[in-house]
Amino acid sequence: MSECIFCKIIDGEIPARKVYEDDSVIAILDVSQVTKGHTLVISKKHVRNILDYTDELAADVFTKIPKIARAVRSFDPECEGLNLLMNNEEIASQSVFHGHVHLLPRYNSDKDGF
Ligand code: ADP
Repeated sequence: MSECIFCKIIDGEIPARKVYEDDSVIAILDVSQVTKGHTLVISKKHVRNILDYTDELAADVFTKIPKIARAVRSFDPECEGLNLLMNNEEIASQSVFHGHVHLLPRYNSDKDGF
């Protein structure tokens, strides 16, 4: 059985608040909301991070991000935009070693910082 927390979410072993799901990608609300609506876009295939993404996986994940970002923005009329962030390897602050892209909704109220 996988010890990966995101694999457990994908397999339905632990709960998550899903924003989007299809055959190969899932998007969930981050358990620790840096900004309201903070979402993680995760490939269902367990791949450590972008350094191990194939072209096909990158195309699949990154092609879906615009529509997921629009959906996340639409949840709150006060959302003005979003940051995209991906931490790859420990030196770059990755703590869950199953590749994921952070979508961070931004609001006028946080324009001076998170
Ligand atoms: P960092 O912890 O520096 O943000 P990552 O880029 O690896 O590193 O992000 C992992 C993210 O996964 C964190 O923002 C964390 O809050 C989130 N997370 C961890 N466990 C869960 C969970 N069970 N459900 C949703 N999000 C989770």
